[in-house]
Amino acid sequence: MTNRKPFNDRAGYLASRINALTTIHNVIYLAAEQGIDADGKYITVCEAHGQMVSSTSMSQARVDMKDASQWCSKCARNLTEVTV
Ligand SMILES: [Zn+2]
Repeated sequence: MTNRKPFNDRAGYLASRINALTTIHNVIYLAAEQGIDADGKYITVCEAHGQMVSSTSMSQARVDMKDASQWCSKCARNLTEVTV
């Protein structure tokens, strides 16, 4: 049994982390490898909701990966529902 993560066979995959709001992974990809015309080199995707944000550095992408509620409107709504 390997510890293989989901999504890591996709084009441009760089990193992933479980989104605590959805229990689905947020994934960082190289935008060009995914065929996405983004502002930044990297995109972080909320795989649960299909929303994404671009960033120009891997360090920023990792910040985005840790908190999808900052850029995924559906995660933001989940967060509101949990905390209110
Ligand atoms: Zn989301």
